[in-house]
Amino acid sequence: MLEKMGDRLDPDVVIEEFEALSRDAGRVQKETLKKILEENGETEYLMKWGLNGKTDPISFKSCVPLVTHADLEPYIQRIAHGENSSILTGKPITTISLTSGTSQGKPKFVPFNDELLENTMQIYKTSFSFRNREFPIGNGKALQFIYGSRQFKTKGGLAAGTATTNVYSDKKFKTTMRAMQTSCCSPDEVIFSTNCEESLYCHLLCGLIFQDQVQVVSSTFAHGIVHAFRTFEGKWEDLVNDVRRGELCSWIKTPSLRTAMSKLLNPNPGLANIIYNKCMGLSNWYGVIQELFPNTKYIYGIMTGSMEPYLKKLRHYAGDLPLLSADYGASEGWIGANVNPELPPELAKFAVLPNIGYFEFIPLKEDLIVEPQPIELTEVNIGEEYEIIVTNFAGLYRYRLGDVVKVKGFHNSTPELQFICRRNLLLTVNIDKNTEKDLQLAVKAAANLLEEEKLEVVDFTSGIDSSTEPAHYVIYWEISGEASEELLKECCNCLDKSFLDPGYVSSRKVKTIGALELRILKKGTFHKILDHFVELGAAVSQFKTPRCVGTKNQTLLQILRHNVVKNYFSSAF
Ligand code: AMP
Repeated sequence: MLEKMGDRLDPDVVIEEFEALSRDAGRVQKETLKKILEENGETEYLMKWGLNGKTDPISFKSCVPLVTHADLEPYIQRIAHGENSSILTGKPITTISLTSGTSQGKPKFVPFNDELLENTMQIYKTSFSFRNREFPIGNGKALQFIYGSRQFKTKGGLAAGTATTNVYSDKKFKTTMRAMQTSCCSPDEVIFSTNCEESLYCHLLCGLIFQDQVQVVSSTFAHGIVHAFRTFEGKWEDLVNDVRRGELCSWIKTPSLRTAMSKLLNPNPGLANIIYNKCMGLSNWYGVIQELFPNTKYIYGIMTGSMEPYLKKLRHYAGDLPLLSADYGASEGWIGANVNPELPPELAKFAVLPNIGYFEFIPLKEDLIVEPQPIELTEVNIGEEYEIIVTNFAGLYRYRLGDVVKVKGFHNSTPELQFICRRNLLLTVNIDKNTEKDLQLAVKAAANLLEEEKLEVVDFTSGIDSSTEPAHYVIYWEISGEASEELLKECCNCLDKSFLDPGYVSSRKVKTIGALELRILKKGTFHKILDHFVELGAAVSQFKTPRCVGTKNQTLLQILRHNVVKNYFSSAF
C-alpha cells in the first residue's frame, strides 16, 4: 500500500515505489505471472490448457494460446449468467465492465474485480506523483467532466456498467482524488445522472461556482473536454444567469440534480458579472478555460491515439495552459502511466507498470506473420512496433487487446510505449490497407486547407461504399461553418491524395478503387452519434467517435445518411 501524509499522498514515496518496480521489470513480470497463475491455476480455463500448477513464463506460453475477446466470450457469458464456479478466476467475479464499444461497433463484456480497481489507483497515483513534481498543485478542486453510465444487472445478477462507471462509483476513487487534492467540483448526483446533457450543464455550473478553486480541468478522454466547452459556447448565458439568480434553469428536469445543485447555488451577481465580462472579452473563445478558471495549472485527459484530432481545439480553449496527456489502459486493464508529463501530447509515452499484469509483445516488423511469436516486456526494442498481449488478475490470459504500440525508450528497465493505433484495418477494399492513423493523417492534411476560410473539422468518420463499382472510400466531415465549393473540392482531392498506402495509390491509378467521396454533414450530427451510443449504454466518459462505420452498423449509417448536406468526388487521380 502506498504511504500517505495524513490524508495526502506522498509523491516521493509513490515515485520511489515505481522506480523500484521499473528497475527490476523482468523479475517483477515473472513474479506477477506466478502470482496470477497461483491465484487462478485451478480455474476451468487454465486447467483446460494443462498448466498443471506450472507458473513459469515458458510453460505458460507453450500451454495457453493467444486469444481474442471472441474466444473468451462464451466463458464471460457464463459468468454474466451467474455460474459461480471458478471459470476464469479463482475468486468469483462480481462485476462486469462494458467496453466503450465505439471501436468495435458494440460494447463487449469484460470481467472487473478489486485487483483492476487497485491497478487503476496505482496508475492514477503514479502519474499524479510525476505530474506533481513538474506541475505542483495545492489544495483545490478539479473540474472533471466525468459521467457514470447506466448500471444494470446481468442475467445472473452481476453488477454491470462501463469500466469508468465501476471505478467512479467505488469509494476508493474519491479517497484517491482527495489524496491527490483533486476532488471533483461536482456532486455524485451530477456524475451519475443518466441524462448526460443535464449532467454536462451541471458540471459546467459547478466549475463556475468553484471557479477560483479549480486547479485542474480534466476528463477521461480529451473529447470530453472539447465537447464540454463546445457546449459552453452555446449555453454560457444560461449558466451566467443561473449563477446570478442562484437558481438552476428550468430545462434541467431531473429532481436529484435540481436538489443537489440547489445546495451549491446562492445568488451571486458579482461572480456572474465577472464571468459575463470574461466571456465577452474573449475572441472566438480562445483561452476560455484559462480565463474562467484562473488558478488552473493544467488540462488533463487521454490526448493520444484517436484523441489527437481534438488537440487543436483543446489548445484553442486552453490558451497558455499546458495539456498533459493521461495514462494508457482499457476496460480490460491498465498498461502504463505517463511519467513524462512535460512532453507534449503528441510525444506522450507510457511506462509499463510491471506488477499490474504480464505483458507480451508481437513484433510487427514483418508484414506476413503466420505464427505470431510474442516476446517479453524487457525484450522489446526501441523504435519497433508491437501488438500488445495482456494477462491480468481479472481472468484474461494472453489476450490480444488489439492495440499497436511503439517502443520509444525505457524507464529503468521497463519500456515506454507510444500508442500508435488499433490493429484492425479501418479502410480496405482490395489490396489497400489503411489504419485509423492513416485516416487521421489524411484528415489532418485536408483539414489544414480549411484554415484558409477560418473553418475547422468538428469531427469525422469514414466508410466504404460498395454500392458503386468499383467500391470507394467515403469520408464524413462535420465542419464548423459554411465552406466554399472550391475549397471542399480541394479538400476532397487532398484526402484522396493523402492515403499514401501503395495498395491504395496503385488501386486508385488503375481504378480498382473508385474516386474518394467527401460527404459533408449537418451541424450537430456527431452530437446525435454520441447520443446514440449513450442510449446503447456507453458512457460519455469513454466515448470515442467511431472512425469507420461498417454496413453492420445500420443505425449509425442511417444517422449519417440522413444528415449529409453535400458530397464531392475526388478528381485527384
Ligand atoms: P475502452 O476500454 O473501450 O474504453 O477503450 C480502450 C481503448 O482505448 C484501448 O484499447 C486503446 O485503443 C484506447 N486508449 C486507451 N488509452 C489510450 C491512450 N492513452 N492513448 C491512446 N489510446 C488509448
